[in-house]
Amino acid sequence: MDDLNFGKRNKRGDWAPNQPAETAPLFTFPPQLAAILKWLPHYFLPWNLIFAVSALAYWAWIIPPVETMQTLSLGWISRLYAVNAIAVFLFYGAFELHLYVLKRQENRFKYNGKFPAEQKSNAFWFQSQNLDNILRTFLSGVMIWTAVEVGMLWAYANGYAPWLGFAENPWTLACVALVVPIIHEFHFFCIHRLIHTPFLYKWVHSVHHNSVNPSPWSSLSMHPVEHLLYFGTAFYHLILPSNPMIMLYQLHYAGFGAIPGHVGFDKVEIGKDRLVDSHAYAHYLHHKYFEVNYGDALIPLDKWFGTWHDGSPEGEAQMQERYRRRKEKLAARKARLEAEGAAE
Ligand SMILES: [Zn+2]
Ligand SMILES: [Zn+2]
Repeated sequence: MDDLNFGKRNKRGDWAPNQPAETAPLFTFPPQLAAILKWLPHYFLPWNLIFAVSALAYWAWIIPPVETMQTLSLGWISRLYAVNAIAVFLFYGAFELHLYVLKRQENRFKYNGKFPAEQKSNAFWFQSQNLDNILRTFLSGVMIWTAVEVGMLWAYANGYAPWLGFAENPWTLACVALVVPIIHEFHFFCIHRLIHTPFLYKWVHSVHHNSVNPSPWSSLSMHPVEHLLYFGTAFYHLILPSNPMIMLYQLHYAGFGAIPGHVGFDKVEIGKDRLVDSHAYAHYLHHKYFEVNYGDALIPLDKWFGTWHDGSPEGEAQMQERYRRRKEKLAARKARLEAEGAAE
């Protein structure tokens, strides 16, 4: 597959798509019905379907009976951690193996021409992005994911969370399942914007941003505080009329759904001529420029708040203009403070 039919590569070997990143056609006024219909299959395929089906499989085979979950005990909790860890190892590992170990598509569709293994950095534990990212994923990421999951299941089992049955409330639950990605997007944008404030960025979020050139294991490489905020997306189901299966889908959307945004490739080649879009470009630009694209473009929040960068020269110019205005504002404030200081 020739990736130059879809984008261009610069002298450094970085590839960029010809098409700028786009926000989903939802929440536009007036509504663009044709665009929504064209986009709709992407809402489900392939990623959301994978996360929803995995939640169903968990409910069918992994989650213990309600009576067991009424009491917290090490047995079922450690089993759940083990299953989550194995699932993450297999799912994340598959991308790592395909794209970064066997390098089956070399650097075709790869945003950053370099592979993280080629660059040692003191920002990482053992100077290795992969080792650092993997340890953070299993020691803290999967641990906190499981803790939130256990807390929610315990709440359901003891009647502390609204649990609707599918037979009696099919339409309500279908609607809640449908907005799971939208809840995630709203929640992620809010917490992400919050941890980009100077204090929290320095102590919490900078851990995730150490991976300027993200790869699959970067997805859940975060500070424990960020893990808790990130998986806190499940807590909406403490107040929503929902069901534990949909709550699991919400968690899987966060846990497994972090992968597409960090694979580092715009498209994943499957076989000889099939391509799967990762929709990772917006988040790749976030890792590259830090202060753009706080959301994943499902709700155009970044457009509304003026932080959207679609990768085009116009997007770049807007970002530079924003930086310039902020610098001016800071310089003006400094000058004012100095003048006040001199007057005293
Ligand atoms: Zn990221
Ligand atoms: Zn960030």
